Amino acid sequence: MASQEVEDIFADILARAKALDPANTRKWFDDLTVLHLNGGSLGVGCPDGVTVQFLRDNCKGNFTRAAQQITGHLITVDFHVVSVDKITSDSRLLTPVLKLHPDYTFSNFVVGPSNRLAHASCVAVSQSLGDTYNPLFLYGNSGLGKTHLLHAVCREAQQRLDGAVIQLLNCEDFVNRFIRAIEQGNLAGFQSQFRTVDALVIDDIQFLRKREQSQEEFFHTFNALYNNSKQIILSADSPPAEIPSLEARLISRFNWGLVARIDPPSYETRVAIVQKKAHIRGLNISEEVAEYIAQQVQANIRELEGALTTIYALALATGEPVNLELAQMALEGQIKLAIRHISITDIIEVVTRHFDVRLADLQSKKRSQSITMPRQICMYLARNLTKHSLEEIGGHLGGRDHTTVMHACNKIAEAKDSDTDTDALLTELTRQITESKQNQKV
Ligand code: ADP
Ligand code: MG
Repeated sequence: MASQEVEDIFADILARAKALDPANTRKWFDDLTVLHLNGGSLGVGCPDGVTVQFLRDNCKGNFTRAAQQITGHLITVDFHVVSVDKITSDSRLLTPVLKLHPDYTFSNFVVGPSNRLAHASCVAVSQSLGDTYNPLFLYGNSGLGKTHLLHAVCREAQQRLDGAVIQLLNCEDFVNRFIRAIEQGNLAGFQSQFRTVDALVIDDIQFLRKREQSQEEFFHTFNALYNNSKQIILSADSPPAEIPSLEARLISRFNWGLVARIDPPSYETRVAIVQKKAHIRGLNISEEVAEYIAQQVQANIRELEGALTTIYALALATGEPVNLELAQMALEGQIKLAIRHISITDIIEVVTRHFDVRLADLQSKKRSQSITMPRQICMYLARNLTKHSLEEIGGHLGGRDHTTVMHACNKIAEAKDSDTDTDALLTELTRQITESKQNQKV
């Protein structure tokens, strides 16, 4: 039987796979178990051969993507028959192991004016759960270190308080687990899992918007923990009052403790972060190059790291040393790309040219393979290269609804995973689309 940690990761993968295709897959997922998760391979146990066949035919792509998203690794997935009586369900009820990112520690976090309050309050909370700021609410734009700080608090608290029960999860996972508990008639199990912890840490709580039932449940979880002086830590992309359609009683509770904002880092902080990240990865970086990166990338620390990776990738590929000239070469293309927005029209242009079809055909109701395939490829590329929503993409392609677009994206992603020709075609189309943009004037 798989270890508790593997069981727990599998539960997350399952929840994510369900989220990727809720309509088609839910009823097939009920009796799945994890057989193994190692060496880049995930084995999933199914109750019978029909389930194995269905999942192999319809869900492999989503499972693969879910496994990659949850673990951050490339993982191949396969399904096998396993008799139901081998499945022990009690092992799943144990408290899940905290999955903390090894690099997201306090010592790896660079403190500056933009994040000083958030950092200090996290340190304080980690030293005495439930006693200082409760709840602690961190907010700021994406890529400014919220998740990093949440992991650091959990790690520190765990080390200090041996045996402390800490739950750290994405709001999305909280919602999915809640939904699963309701489906399985196990609300009591869900409640005991979340209402009895020493600290409940939920990342990206803005995801609760529009989830009325989950808001209700979270409200009671919050009260139970708060009344017992248990720590609650939340992060979001905006302050409580600005999270759309969040109940007033939750907004007010989120403001009971400390609300700490994280701002984009100053130039000096950015330089220090680049140096820290390089150091963690064992890379040598001159002050000149660190300063150059910090000048080029300003708003988002994740992109700062991405810039560093790009520069080192170019150095590896060319065998050149990492100096200012190479850094400029590496980032120039990237920055150009970032400032040029690829539109759905750009994508449609390249795809229709390649397949020699007309836009009107893509927008029509025709379902022949020669039209369906380019249409689905347009949807997939639009999903990956633009920030448009599924609805908007569907709108450009004949007013199709978001489930159709989602299905198309999954189908093409699956083909990309399993078929090298499709993979090569998508790479080539992407190259043409980005190139056509690069040739246009800014
Ligand atoms: P958010 O959750 O706010 O979107 P993350 O916590 O995922 O952001 O941070 C994005 C990346 O930036 C992570 O790799 C994180 O380690 C890094 N990062 C953010 N802030 C800092 C900081 N002050 N010092 C070092 N690294 C940071
Ligand atoms: Mg985050």
